[in-house]
Amino acid sequence: MAAWNPWHGCQKISAGCENCYVYRMDRQHGRDASQTIRNKDFDLPLRRDRKGNFKLLPGETVYTCFTSDFFLEQADPWREEAWECIRGRPDLLFFMATKRIDRLEQCVPADWGEGYENVHICCTVENQDRAAYRLPIFLAAPIRHKSILCEPLLEAVELTPWLNENIEEVAAGGESGPGARLCDYDWILSLQKQCKAAGTAFCFRQTGALFRRNGRLYRIPRKHQHSQARKAGIDLARPQAFAAGGQHES
Ligand code: SF4
Repeated sequence: MAAWNPWHGCQKISAGCENCYVYRMDRQHGRDASQTIRNKDFDLPLRRDRKGNFKLLPGETVYTCFTSDFFLEQADPWREEAWECIRGRPDLLFFMATKRIDRLEQCVPADWGEGYENVHICCTVENQDRAAYRLPIFLAAPIRHKSILCEPLLEAVELTPWLNENIEEVAAGGESGPGARLCDYDWILSLQKQCKAAGTAFCFRQTGALFRRNGRLYRIPRKHQHSQARKAGIDLARPQAFAAGGQHES
């Protein structure tokens, strides 16, 4: 598992961005996250060590652009070069989450076709309104590997109309950090049930800092948010029929 952030900084675009951790971290370091900058290790996927080996080892999943959004407008001048890095490493899997799936069409390279095999795009939906807007676009988009991220989950969300065999996984979780908004376990369980019915893999990633279960409120420290979610034991594996092959036409 590796991280690659070709640029840093972002613009808030929807309710899920309210307590964005990039803004929070930058504030702590006296920086302004609304200013997007190109990072020094922009070409990290293509960099080699003294022996000539790639610094990012073959087979790694590369968490891409997690301090920004890969489809951010302010990054338009740099994206073609980022695609070149991605094209140059077919042996890596580039995993990116976006709230800007509506910009995909204008941001993909000329040879994108039905999507690159080494790119997994995760569409973030935090509430019903954003699910209804983003998921029809996401479903129709040419992407080889797709998943949905409901985090921070801000209310009960009905995903069933958009769950099909092309969605490899749904992940969900609450919000962390000071001022975190509530996540109710019933909302998480509802998503898990929807995934079970649709045959989609599901992962309860983290509780968030303010978690309600059976009507009782819990304040959960950051270090326990992932482990508490795991303890719930509600994750679902992808049924073999979908898992086999790993490639699906959109
Ligand atoms: S899109 Fe993501 S990185 Fe950008 S402001 Fe929103 S939460 Fe932060």
